[in-house]
Amino acid sequence: MYDVYKIREDFPILSREVYKRPLVYLDNGATTQKPRIVVDSLVNEYYSVNANVHRGVHFLSQQATELHEASRETVRGFINARSVQEIIFTRGTTESMNLLAYSFGEAFLNDGDEVIVSVMEHHSNIVPWQLLQQRKKIVLKVIPMNDKGELLMDEYRNLFTERTKLVSVAHVSNVLGTVNPVQEIIQIAHAHGVPVAVDGAQSTPHIPIDVQALDADFFAFSGHKIYGPTGVGVLYGKEQLLEKMPPYQGGGEMIQNVSFEKTTFNELPFKFEAGTPDYVATTGLAKALEYCAALGMENIANHEQMLTAYAMEKMSQIEGMRIFGQAEHKDAVISFLVGQIHHLDLGTLLDRLGIAVRTGHHCAEPLMRRLGIEGTVRASFALYNTKEEVDALVNGIERVRKMF
Ligand code: PMP
Repeated sequence: MYDVYKIREDFPILSREVYKRPLVYLDNGATTQKPRIVVDSLVNEYYSVNANVHRGVHFLSQQATELHEASRETVRGFINARSVQEIIFTRGTTESMNLLAYSFGEAFLNDGDEVIVSVMEHHSNIVPWQLLQQRKKIVLKVIPMNDKGELLMDEYRNLFTERTKLVSVAHVSNVLGTVNPVQEIIQIAHAHGVPVAVDGAQSTPHIPIDVQALDADFFAFSGHKIYGPTGVGVLYGKEQLLEKMPPYQGGGEMIQNVSFEKTTFNELPFKFEAGTPDYVATTGLAKALEYCAALGMENIANHEQMLTAYAMEKMSQIEGMRIFGQAEHKDAVISFLVGQIHHLDLGTLLDRLGIAVRTGHHCAEPLMRRLGIEGTVRASFALYNTKEEVDALVNGIERVRKMF
């Protein structure tokens, strides 16, 4: 039995008030709240283990290293990667995508080569490729979508040429909630011999992930969006590709031997992990993933699907409501506008009612342009949200609408 009220007790922040009203936190697409078990692990590690990893012979350093490397194994298991060599710790999805663009770009891309992305990408899967364009004249090709927010797969098929070297797409859109058919996207790309990177920032918290079943070549996600600490994320990559890719940053940890004449690099995954990692955060991330696994990702997904369907139905009945993203496969994200009310006004007035939503372009300006709007209000759900909170949102929107 999925007891959401019991689960909420694990998240102390959910019982606080804002403006003397109970907090209704619906900005989970931006970041999620943390269960006690995650915060406790951070405090405990600083209080009783803290030492730099991988370097010391002393007891604490070894204990910290064991925790850090055990977390890597937890991540491996959570996304079902083949080996821990394929799990690179980063600061988050953004750094994962920058690492990928830099290093994959160095190894495999030449002037005139093409990378396929989609129209609904977050800026972190657009701008790193544009930065690469300053060094190499690569061409970005864009998969278009229909008005429901679904990628046009026939158009996608037609984008391939012999210069296509990579496809890099979001698993779930942070604006539309569309769950893209990544399995099919990957199969099509592989038929052309082209690897695929998946931005899993918005899917990993909501959908069971199996990188081997997907046959994804790269997969990125952020710890803070899946109930873990800020400042830690993951880039999964297939070993045979990572082996051929050069380091992203230089420094400690990523080397084997350094001399002024010649430096050799460490083995995977350390080749990509220069400097002291946030080893406390990796422990916290592992706790968060264990927490999700204990609840069951399928159960979480079912709960959130129930909430999304309920919210879609209730919100559609509001006069003047426009919901952006009506895909058949849709995740726990609802972007909307009401009548002529500016998204910022709507978001600000909802905030006064204790309801936290996001407003703006959601770091997806090309998508806003495609939709012909400047921004939306976005409500995004997590494993701890309730139907009562959806009701509060709907009542809040009605109240604001009547004010205007
Ligand atoms: N991709 C998507 C789809 C996202 O929603 C986000 C966060 N909004 C990111 C990438 C970037 O994640 P982070 O800020 O944690 O690096």
